[in-house]
Amino acid sequence: MTSAIRPTGITLNKREGFLEIRWSDDAVCRYPLSELREACPCVECRGGHAFMGREHDPEDILTLTPKRSYSVERIDMIGNYAIQPVWDDGHHTGLYTWEYLRRLCPKTAGV
Ligand SMILES: [Zn+2]
Repeated sequence: MTSAIRPTGITLNKREGFLEIRWSDDAVCRYPLSELREACPCVECRGGHAFMGREHDPEDILTLTPKRSYSVERIDMIGNYAIQPVWDDGHHTGLYTWEYLRRLCPKTAGV
């Protein structure tokens, strides 16, 4: 029942630029904000493509945002299933569900 896994704590560290989530199974995931921004699941950012494989489709280049450091203005909770970050570039349509975040979880050493 992986659907039962949910965050027990969400920490936004603006100074160091990461979001940290502690999950109900005690795993801790730390997401660099720039990676989180580029993983934005909204239609606008994904351009209608499936987002799991980052292939170098020429059409995709148009939708990629140049690498830079992002910061988050704030993070809104959406019901009990997702967060919606408001980025400093004004973008805020990405809904990061728990399931998606869990899948994005960087493999952190020492957890
Ligand atoms: Zn987006």
